Amino acid sequence: INLSLEKVIDKKEQAEQDLQYLAYHDELTGLPNKNLLVDRINQSIKTASRDKQKIAILFLDLDRFKNINDSLGHTIGDTLLKEVSDRLYKTLRSHDTISRNGGDEFVVVLERLKNTNEAIHVAKKVINCLTDPFDIQSHKIHIGASVGISIFPTDGDTSLILLRNADTAMYRAKQSGGNQLQFYDKSMSNQLRDRLEIEAELHGALERDEFYMVYQPQIDCATGRTIGFESLIRWHNDKHGEIGPDRFIPLLEETGLIYAVGEWVVSEVASFIQKHHVDGITFSINLSALQCNDLGFISYVNKVIDKTGIDASQMEFEITETLLIKDFEKTKVFLDGLHNIGCAIALDDFGTGYTSMNYLARLPIDVIKIDKSLVRNIDVNTNLQSIVRAIVTMSVSLGMKNIFEGIETSEELAVIKNLKGHIIQGYLFSKPLIENDVNDWLASDTSLRLVK
Ligand code: C2E
Ligand code: CA
Ligand code: CA
Repeated sequence: INLSLEKVIDKKEQAEQDLQYLAYHDELTGLPNKNLLVDRINQSIKTASRDKQKIAILFLDLDRFKNINDSLGHTIGDTLLKEVSDRLYKTLRSHDTISRNGGDEFVVVLERLKNTNEAIHVAKKVINCLTDPFDIQSHKIHIGASVGISIFPTDGDTSLILLRNADTAMYRAKQSGGNQLQFYDKSMSNQLRDRLEIEAELHGALERDEFYMVYQPQIDCATGRTIGFESLIRWHNDKHGEIGPDRFIPLLEETGLIYAVGEWVVSEVASFIQKHHVDGITFSINLSALQCNDLGFISYVNKVIDKTGIDASQMEFEITETLLIKDFEKTKVFLDGLHNIGCAIALDDFGTGYTSMNYLARLPIDVIKIDKSLVRNIDVNTNLQSIVRAIVTMSVSLGMKNIFEGIETSEELAVIKNLKGHIIQGYLFSKPLIENDVNDWLASDTSLRLVK
């Protein structure tokens, strides 16, 4: 009896130890988890305050991990996380704490820090050790890491604040393009607060009718006649004033609001066309990559066209190059769907990514929009002229129209006319116009516009 009782006690102790271990470690990598991390930081804070020393918290988030997980699967994602933790472990000193916070987030605590340079040095080592590609099940996987750093005592005196501030700095590192380190500074939390406030306002913006559309003329280069408009969204908020699309579209995407707002744009543009009887004029609408995963959008467009009775060919959709590379087959289904309704498709920002010819030829693309970065100073840059000449030739041989956007000077225009560009758009002709000004614009439209 005694023996078995001992065994039971043994087992119980083992179980308790197991539970204890699980409570403080990450199952996948065996690294300390967030609970243990917080304990360690609190412990370090005590020691460091007593000895008047600094601590650095490095908050690390892998770049593109989600993509890898989504495209190659969770098994490979998990293996990658294990290999990342191995590399980190080998790179750091034995008295540094490294933990996995969940997902693809890791936190490193550097104690007994002599100066902040030491933190930079370690952060760089960490980033470098992850730049060599990982070889997993015969996939060569390239990732990078964004690292945010907060320092005790300057950036906070509790584990909670130090972690939050390192996280904020990491977010900034990621926004600046990733694969880099960023120190926390106080202005970041102000910016983060602004961002959160704007995000909160964005949630009610559609209901409060705060969005409106503006329309930028697109002109036939040969005749000078306006043949279309690009529809661009605007947001006026009572608290924050006018906020540009470059600021709020990413937020719409992150919050998933882009779907509802994207549909609002379609119905807004359609009723504009219906109301003003602008026959034969195209209105292009920008789509964000997320919308192109949503086949429901196509039926929505169909419904709106039916309801308003407008001509489908008056509606054009602009997509960007990056979309094509992401998931070609899915994108093709989406674009074919829109094209079959009778809408035109334009490839936006052409020349800023890497579109393969093969992709272009296999998709129902009617128009390519040559990015404004290729237009800027084209009159003084002869290399640029050769590139753009090749693009024009290519678009013609693929049976596509080309649009030059962002033309600002008559010198740029002269070169583009010379290269036989089809359609032109830019501040030189007009800024985007509010609804009422579109009619005036069309009324005064003459083929003399270019000859002035
Ligand atoms: P984008 O599609 O490349 O749109 C062209 C941007 O260039 C517009 O900025 C336009 O106002 C600006 N632009 C036009 N002519 C000139 C010029 O001569 N010089 C210069 N420097 N800029 C010129 P905007 O309206 O701020 O839009 C920014 C981006 O926001 C757009 O870039 C587009 O990607 C996105 N966006 C705008 N409206 C919508 C929308 O309704 N839905 C979605 N998903 N995205 C939109
Ligand atoms: Ca566009
Ligand atoms: Ca563009």
